[in-house]
Amino acid sequence: MRGIVWFRRDLRLHDQPALTAACEACSEVMPLFVFDEPLLRSRVFGSACVNFMLGCLQELASALAGLGLTLRWRRGEPLDEVVQAAREWKADVVYWNRDYEPGAIQRDLAVQQQLAQLGVPVRTFKDHVVFEAEEVRGATGEPMQRYSAYRARWWAKWQATKPAPLAVPRSVPVVKAHSVPLPEPFPSAMELGYDLVTPWIEPGERNGQKRLQWFIKGPIHTYGNGRNQPGIDGSSQLSPHFRFGTLSARTAIHTALGALAKGGRVSRADVLIWIDELVWREFFQQVLSAFPRVVEGPFRDVAVPPVREPGPERDRLFQAWCDGKTGYPIVDAGMRQLNRTGWMHNRVRMIVASFLIKDLRIDWQSGERYFMRQLLDADVAANNGNWQWCAATGTDAMRGYRIFNPVLQSKKFDPDGAYIRAYVPELARVAAKWIHEPHMMSLDEQRRAGCRIGVDYPLPLVDHAQARREYLDLGKQQVSR
Ligand SMILES: Cc1cc2nc3c(=O)[nH]c(=O)nc-3n(C[C@H](O)[C@H](O)[C@H](O)COP(=O)(O)OP(=O)(O)OC[C@H]3O[C@@H](n4cnc5c(N)ncnc54)[C@H](O)[C@@H]3O)c2cc1C
Repeated sequence: MRGIVWFRRDLRLHDQPALTAACEACSEVMPLFVFDEPLLRSRVFGSACVNFMLGCLQELASALAGLGLTLRWRRGEPLDEVVQAAREWKADVVYWNRDYEPGAIQRDLAVQQQLAQLGVPVRTFKDHVVFEAEEVRGATGEPMQRYSAYRARWWAKWQATKPAPLAVPRSVPVVKAHSVPLPEPFPSAMELGYDLVTPWIEPGERNGQKRLQWFIKGPIHTYGNGRNQPGIDGSSQLSPHFRFGTLSARTAIHTALGALAKGGRVSRADVLIWIDELVWREFFQQVLSAFPRVVEGPFRDVAVPPVREPGPERDRLFQAWCDGKTGYPIVDAGMRQLNRTGWMHNRVRMIVASFLIKDLRIDWQSGERYFMRQLLDADVAANNGNWQWCAATGTDAMRGYRIFNPVLQSKKFDPDGAYIRAYVPELARVAAKWIHEPHMMSLDEQRRAGCRIGVDYPLPLVDHAQARREYLDLGKQQVSR
């Protein structure tokens, strides 16, 4: 039996359910990847993400070659390409791991139907999450809308099942060389219509594993505090690996819990806080799965202050936010980190999102789209879930009118300004006393710091106290309507 394994967001060999199942059942296995032309053309994702994916594919191809398998690729509309591949390669069965994004579900259903017409069955597997939406439900079987309740049930399910990761398949059936032509080298980012950039986080399964090992040996044991300090390397930075499946959540959780079992200098509390973040990831996946309408608009129809009218002023403010030129150093450092590296620290993601929505009163969907285009870890479920959380429209949203004060957040989480200095070089010589609100410097202090406010670094785009008052007043008017 000849089986195609269609790789998508699962670019690894370890703990790969579709690949393992194909290797067990088939006498010939053909790995396939499809460059989704309509998706690439739509520019939902940006160059950082595409270059990271290409790096992952290169490594996957050589890892598969080590097993004697050739990763074949095609470019076009996935529906046509997968069906065509099955026809040309005379496949008896096609394997893939499930994807829970609404567009992907529709695509997969269409592929499955067309393959059925050819008489080619499809086998699909759970992979991207530890538990799928239907596996963690409320008392009456309903999808869950509160993270805390979901978390309790998720952990109960984990304790009861502890799903173990799969090993790399040992016996791998190989396609007879003459029967299917060998693939060309992968297209470059530029050939796909994107800029060539070196991913700031190293792509590929080996790098994901290496980073996990590094994190589990050290930073995870101080994660509770470390995760909130953007100036230090205190979180795992594994999000692009989870996004492209170069690391599975099962492997990560087992490795983290395994470190606890070994004893030594470990912190149980910090390890559990980190795993809870992966539970957040699953929570948002199940929200997307159960309520696909979240991609179209707010989850909850709550009364929130109206957004700014479209026009040049709104565009000017949005552009300043995108460019990291708001005059609020922590916001600007975050946006410049995003633009330069394709990644942003979680605490700062919350601060910049709050600033866009509440200080600038710009619709959260504009921020969501911008993040998708810039992030290496761009993921519909996590991105939408978090933006809706910040906008107070989500399932488990930030309380009503809670507004982050960018100066206080900055003082608390980046006290000496290490993070700001790293990404806003104009402020590198500004004293710690002024780094969070440099517009308060006297002219003399500006001269000493080599930074003229309003010339080298912008004045604040809006006055936070005033913007906060306006937002709250508009909010009250909405509620009393
Ligand atoms: C406005 C906004 C947009 C976001 N967009 C994305 C996105 O597109 N893709 C994405 O993966 N994350 C997104 N996040 C969540 C979070 O910021 C990142 O997952 C995290 O910063 C990644 O860094 P890390 O790998 O070091 O995380 P760690 O702190 O090491 O956490 C481990 C893993 O848990 C998951 N995780 C952590 N926090 C969250 C969270 N709040 N929601 C969902 N999963 C989480 C990630 O997979 C992460 O790699 C967003 C957060 C905000 C506030």
